[in-house]
Amino acid sequence: MSQIDHYAVFGSPIEHSKSPRIHTLFAEQTQQLMEYSTQLVSAEKFPRAVKDFFSSGGRGLNCTVPLKELAWEYAKLKTERAELAKAVNTLAVQADGRILGDNTDGIGLVTDIQNNHGISLKQKRILILGAGGASRGIILPILEQLPLSMTIANRTVAKAVTLADEFCHKAKINACGYDALKGQSFDLILNATSASLTDELPPLAAGLLAEQGSCYDLAYANKATAFVRWGYEQHASNSLDGLGMLVEQAAEAFYLWRGMRPDTLPVIQILEAERNS
Ligand code: NDP
Repeated sequence: MSQIDHYAVFGSPIEHSKSPRIHTLFAEQTQQLMEYSTQLVSAEKFPRAVKDFFSSGGRGLNCTVPLKELAWEYAKLKTERAELAKAVNTLAVQADGRILGDNTDGIGLVTDIQNNHGISLKQKRILILGAGGASRGIILPILEQLPLSMTIANRTVAKAVTLADEFCHKAKINACGYDALKGQSFDLILNATSASLTDELPPLAAGLLAEQGSCYDLAYANKATAFVRWGYEQHASNSLDGLGMLVEQAAEAFYLWRGMRPDTLPVIQILEAERNS
């Protein structure tokens, strides 16, 4: 008899998570016998919960706020992108029983921008707003696309400087506060701050976005975020939010677990329709 493989997302809060919906759609599409659940897990409970999950036969986990750094500590075996990100959002049981930690957020973002929206990152001047966990996860996958330059701007400037230093063996990254951006312009501005979650906007000067430039907010909501609206005001060629990134990072996790790539576009379309309904 075929056995159902178990997967889950751990986090706190977790009830808002779209991951069960996305992975259920992937499983239906690819005819995989799997079940994906949510589990409310605090940072304190994480070590016990993750041990219980895998010892009872669980095949893979996603970890979200506030657990990504703890998942990084837990996984002794990690991909390079996860190692550098210092955050793990996907855990997968390997053939030899070891648990691999990966960070699929950055590749999810790059895939959404390049494949779904046709925006090449090569030779582009890229500005990343924010220097938290999400910024850390996207830097290496973006650098691998060979942009012309990368700048990180953050409210707390020291955090941007530290982050740039951590990746200086890969490429030169500029780091600064928002004031220092005046007079510069960028082909792509990525909002990796959590400001959108409270409908706020970092202090962005007019003229930051080059003609034909694009804006991308890693956050997503049922209506246009403050940053997506700012992009419209700047006449951005594209002003996008992070729903596509969410689906693409899930597809990368699914690939790690099941060895097959789901077709993401129909799933993005379903989620778009559901959030507009
Ligand atoms: P963190 O808490 O690690 O970092 C938050 C960052 O936002 C910090 O740099 C902080 O600056 C900055 N910030 C917060 N509020 C403001 C404000 N009002 N003005 C300017 N800067 C501000 O969060 P994460 O990095 O984990 O998440 C960032 C965003 O990315 C969230 O919106 C999250 O939802 C999104 N995300 C989306 C994913 C997707 O799949 N679409 C995946 C992962 C994340 P300071 O250092 O000065 O405090």
